[in-house]
Amino acid sequence: MSNGSLSSETSPAVLILLGPPGAGKGTQARMLEERFGMVQLSTGDLLRAAVGAGTPAGLAAKAVMEAGGLVSDEIVLAILKDRMAEPDVARGIILDGFPRTDGQASALDALLAEAGQRVTAAISLEVDDAAMIARVAGRYTCAGCGEGYHDEFKQPHAEGVCDKCGGTAFKRRSDDNAETAKARLEAYHAQTAPLIAHYERAGVLERIDAMGDIDAIAGALGQVVGRVSA
Ligand code: ADP
Repeated sequence: MSNGSLSSETSPAVLILLGPPGAGKGTQARMLEERFGMVQLSTGDLLRAAVGAGTPAGLAAKAVMEAGGLVSDEIVLAILKDRMAEPDVARGIILDGFPRTDGQASALDALLAEAGQRVTAAISLEVDDAAMIARVAGRYTCAGCGEGYHDEFKQPHAEGVCDKCGGTAFKRRSDDNAETAKARLEAYHAQTAPLIAHYERAGVLERIDAMGDIDAIAGALGQVVGRVSA
């Protein structure tokens, strides 16, 4: 399979990763970035950056995120639109954690239509709920490069040293605990899972079994992305 960029000047690929918290959207999006030269857009990361910077949007989002609820469409859309105005999106985008509601899905369709684009594929990472709580509650990332790890399933090869960048500082999200993870899973089922049917009707849905190991899932995902972007 080619490693070339999936984008062209006229129609950069627009991929959506759907799946509950802990399904591996972030990990897989980062692997797709490396492999296909596309850009990962994570509304979770953008919101955490806004919280960290103390912007008005961040201040409004903080408590909702800590409770495991969904931030308002208005805030999320404003943040996403800003990010989509950056030139690197011309390489093609992988939306990770967006859209999460009907309103966001419609807004995305409208935003893309303005630019003569549409969703290339919405890829649903299919997993068991019960396993998700365990995954989310044990995960952490390298503070330097963002590589993801897990207390039980994926420790760095050398204890305390990031495999990827050699960094020795790690961080955990404050919402990655069992209680908040449960609330996030509930929000996913109530508001986001129905989008699977939306994209199925639009004829762009792809399903991936995401219960296996990270490399096997990446392999299956890479095949789908290569096919839909060809
Ligand atoms: P995960 O997929 O593991 O839940 P994210 O990093 O995508 O993690 O999101 C973390 C939190 O940020 C969510 O629980 C929610 O509060 C907020 N958030 C992220 N993306 C959106 C979105 N598109 N709409 C509303 N809230 C969002």
